[in-house]
Amino acid sequence: MTAAPPARTRTRFAPSPTGFIHLGNIRSALYPWAFARSTGGDFILRIEDTDLERSTQAAVDVILEGMAWLGLDHDEGPYYQMQRMDRYKAVLADLQAAGQVYPCYMSVAELDALRERQMAAKQKPRYDGTWRPEPGKTLPPVPAGVQPVLRFRNPQGGVVAWDDKVKGRIEISNDELDDLVIARPDGTPTYNFCVVVDDIDMAITHVIRGDDHVNNTPRQINIFRALGQEPPIYAHLPTVLNEQGEKMSKRNGAKPVTQYRDEGFLPDAMVNYLARLGWSHGDDEIFSREQFLEWFNLDHLGRSAAQFDEAKLRWVNAQHLKAMDDAALVPLVAGQLARRGVTADARLPAICGLFKDRCDTTVALADWAQAFYAEVSPTAEDLAKHVTEAVKPAIATLADKLADVEWTAAAIGAALKDTLAAHQLKMPQLAMPVRVLVLGTPQTPSLDAVLALVEREKVIQRLRLA
Ligand code: GLU
Repeated sequence: MTAAPPARTRTRFAPSPTGFIHLGNIRSALYPWAFARSTGGDFILRIEDTDLERSTQAAVDVILEGMAWLGLDHDEGPYYQMQRMDRYKAVLADLQAAGQVYPCYMSVAELDALRERQMAAKQKPRYDGTWRPEPGKTLPPVPAGVQPVLRFRNPQGGVVAWDDKVKGRIEISNDELDDLVIARPDGTPTYNFCVVVDDIDMAITHVIRGDDHVNNTPRQINIFRALGQEPPIYAHLPTVLNEQGEKMSKRNGAKPVTQYRDEGFLPDAMVNYLARLGWSHGDDEIFSREQFLEWFNLDHLGRSAAQFDEAKLRWVNAQHLKAMDDAALVPLVAGQLARRGVTADARLPAICGLFKDRCDTTVALADWAQAFYAEVSPTAEDLAKHVTEAVKPAIATLADKLADVEWTAAAIGAALKDTLAAHQLKMPQLAMPVRVLVLGTPQTPSLDAVLALVEREKVIQRLRLA
């Protein structure tokens, strides 16, 4: 007999649009995406928008834009849970017909009183099964005018166990789990139930999510089984901590993921950095998206919380930026310039090529490029320090020479050398003030190459300001 072929991998990202997703959240999209891509499977996007009070369209937009920006493309979806309510209600009715769900009429006041009694007796607060039907048990009389919640009949005795791809084997005794409310008095299904129905309907094979859901998993597994299905494989990812060592959260200042796009980070660098935030491939720090997909599997996920480090992210970004083709940088830098109202032209690829080595973001690259397209404003300090009376005659000579040389780096270099010889100066004595006047700063790459990219009239006009 031949073994059945392994089922096609199907993973999902299921964010709740209750706040702008940050890097900690998007890492929970990266891994299931990567696992689907690296195994030739499908990646599904599902928006868990049942919290009507807190869900917003703006938060959905950040999810969609952020994922598109990072290239985390989905094969199906986005599905919206609010559009699947009829389906959940139908499954709920089936479960109720099968006796797996029962109405509970306990009022909030009664539940509070129960909790108080349990706390006073030093017991864990839990529903006591008052309305759970059992053979031979008489249920209390149904109170008039009360809409019941529906509770899930959790199995009694035994354990719920799974082999978590990150945390190893986890076993929870069923007696720890009380009968979960799976529909509210108005009939709307609750969170854990919807997730299970979706994971079944979407044929999810691997649930890769944050470990803040690990407490839900045994409950979800029991619901899977009540629905006659085996649960998927689970991988619960450790938390991402912010630089202060707290759980990353919008409440303590985590930025929306799209802000990194605006700040000039590159999608491939973000993927590289986020990949390393909870997964490793030996000591490899810098890798391409293709390498990541080739290497990624669920066997090298980290077990401890990873800490975000912006300086490291900048370093990773700088490495990718340096390695990028000038032509590929052009649209990104042009976009940054456009946000400032600056229009670029055919010089931009060469400008990117000259400056990319010293930049960590496309914003930094645009800062340099701006000197070629807009006015510069050297500081008074730099002017005083470098543009001295002693050097001004040489600057004037250079301006004269540049008026009629061929506008190439070589010819400009020759004009610089001639000027040095005529005034008995060393290169830095002339190069620094020229940089300050023309580029607004004393630090630039090779001066002849830089000047060749500024328009001749602009160079001469800026030099004449000395
Ligand atoms: N909607 C949940 C969240 O945003 C994720 C649920 C899941 O992945 O199962 O935390």
